[in-house]
Amino acid sequence: MEGLDHTRRMPGHGRSTGTCTPWGAALASTLLAAGISLATSACSPASPVPGTGATAVQQQESDAGPVLREALGSTRVVILGTGAPSADPARSGPCVAIIVNGTPYLVDLGPGVIRRAAAAVQAGVLELDPINLRHAFITHLHSDHTVGYPDLIFSPWALGRDGSIDVWGPTGITAMTDHLMAAYEQDIGIRMDEEQPSTTDGFLVRAHEVEPGVVHEDDNVTVEAFPVSHGTWPEAYGYKFTTPDKTIVISGDTGPSDVIVEQCDGCDILIHEVYSFWGFELRPDDWQAYHESFHTSAPELADIATRARPRLLVLYHQLFWGATDEGLLAEIRAAGYEGEVVSARDLDVY
Ligand SMILES: [Zn+2]
Ligand SMILES: [Zn+2]
Repeated sequence: MEGLDHTRRMPGHGRSTGTCTPWGAALASTLLAAGISLATSACSPASPVPGTGATAVQQQESDAGPVLREALGSTRVVILGTGAPSADPARSGPCVAIIVNGTPYLVDLGPGVIRRAAAAVQAGVLELDPINLRHAFITHLHSDHTVGYPDLIFSPWALGRDGSIDVWGPTGITAMTDHLMAAYEQDIGIRMDEEQPSTTDGFLVRAHEVEPGVVHEDDNVTVEAFPVSHGTWPEAYGYKFTTPDKTIVISGDTGPSDVIVEQCDGCDILIHEVYSFWGFELRPDDWQAYHESFHTSAPELADIATRARPRLLVLYHQLFWGATDEGLLAEIRAAGYEGEVVSARDLDVY
């Protein structure tokens, strides 16, 4: 990865700071003027807030007994958005939900994330109720992966979510969180005004800046971050989720990289970004240079996946430039990949 000093990032020594994001003095005084006492103590520990989030969900499951626990036991992957910056109305911004024992974990927050979650609920994936979204992992800070961040913070709060949420991401995720709090200062003040029913903590965020290694572990998942090479971004990550029954690797945005081969190594599901080489050849020279540096072509992915040996390869965050899902799959096949492969569409479940 350009600009990243790998030697100072030791695998297994991921940093995960459990600090709640501070808000500006202006916001604090706004809330104070409204007579609101913030439950900031709920923001201090890195573990789940008692009575909320993962803890509450797990409690509900144990109360439900062994049958429900077994039914919920298998990990599911729900593709909430496959889109790229082109504003294809059929493809929401990039977001993958991994659901384990009733708890959803999101990777990336592209535009439209909360409405796609609501669509998943309508399709029967009840765990993706927006007020149940409390864990998100950001691969990098490109806008197409983060425009949905304020949506995650504020929309479920307006729907009644209580308790803070946890968001992991590269250096800068804390500053982005602080800026969002400042940007929505007036909204927060108005909603917490006594005229509007609202919880006092449903918009709070614990922002965790990650380094390679284990960044989160609970009863459902172990989440590891690994650096990928995304052009000139100094920090971009892929994530590996290990659950009781599956190992899932998400590439994030990356050029072709052996790190994906190492991280997957026979994993259950490899979710990888890709662009059509057929479409690429129609692109102007300056854009070709950009895409070669920042992203992975279908033939390059065929080579990576052949060596990574996933049980299922999922093409994701596809750049088509006039190609189709079938065309992308044909490119992957023509380049010699013989394993199971699908080209994801929004709301697919694996
Ligand atoms: Zn990107
Ligand atoms: Zn992207």
